[in-house]
Amino acid sequence: MSAKIIDGKYHSENILNEVRAEVADIVMQGGRPPCLAVVLVGDDEASKIYVGSKQKKCEEIGFTSVAHIKPSTISEDELLTLIDMLNNDSGVDGILVQSPLPKHINADNVFEAVAPGKDVDCFNPYNIGLVSMGKDGLVPCTPAGCVELLRREKINMSGADCVVIGRSNIVGRPAASLMIKESATVTVCHSRTKDLAAVVRGADIIIAAIGKKHFVTPDMVKDGAVIVDVGINRTPGSKKIHGDVDPACMEKASYMTPVPGGVGPMTIAMLMSNCLTAYKKLR
Ligand code: NDP
Repeated sequence: MSAKIIDGKYHSENILNEVRAEVADIVMQGGRPPCLAVVLVGDDEASKIYVGSKQKKCEEIGFTSVAHIKPSTISEDELLTLIDMLNNDSGVDGILVQSPLPKHINADNVFEAVAPGKDVDCFNPYNIGLVSMGKDGLVPCTPAGCVELLRREKINMSGADCVVIGRSNIVGRPAASLMIKESATVTVCHSRTKDLAAVVRGADIIIAAIGKKHFVTPDMVKDGAVIVDVGINRTPGSKKIHGDVDPACMEKASYMTPVPGGVGPMTIAMLMSNCLTAYKKLR
């Protein structure tokens, strides 16, 4: 068997086109376009690139965006004051604080300060609580991107045995919550899991979010399993990125996301979709 490749670029373009069409409609009817505020602290090169690409995407789909670029010396209080200002600005629909923040700033305090209705990254514990309860609302971008890929490929999630590898607050845990909402039977594995390979071998759907190049190998994959690879692993000195899943698993799986070009492009598409949701809820 050779897996069908789940094309994240294709699906993310479709999502962005759907958002773009909705925004064009809003503007045609005299409404203002949604606005995303991005906050960048310090001069981490990768963060600057991420912020730049998010702003470019806003422009492409008809959103406006404002960037608040602050020096790494900004105090936590000053940053919280900025967040408060953005929370109260009726012209701002979504707020994104780019990670990582400098060490002297408590990131939890900052993410908790973002108004839940504008929390397009879905990092605020209130929103994560809603996700855990299976309620509709803003969604955690990367895990929601995984589920959206499965949905758009019409892969049956209801009743499927899903193994999520990784329990981080950004990917693993919320991915598990979203899969429970889809009525999958979910097992979450982590570094203390006993005989992880045996657990993963039982999965109809594998969501790998570990951060270790090619961690999932063909012997861990049941014939016909669906694999969603969240991993982004860089080898020092190379620009190439690798997933958490060994590409040789293609021979066992029925569907598999590639790296790059799988989950990665979905994250930004879900961010834009969240910003539109926030815009509509605030109206
Ligand atoms: P974290 O480092 O926060 O979490 C990794 C998880 O993997 C932890 O729960 C850890 O377990 C588990 N783990 C690590 N080693 C092992 C092991 N040997 N056996 C079993 N479990 C293990 O990573 P993130 O969740 O933030 O990210 C995971 C991957 O996804 C990374 O490659 C990251 O770059 C990528 N990513 C991709 C995104 C995208 O847009 N495509 C967005 C976000 C992340 P424990 O909790 O026990 O330590």
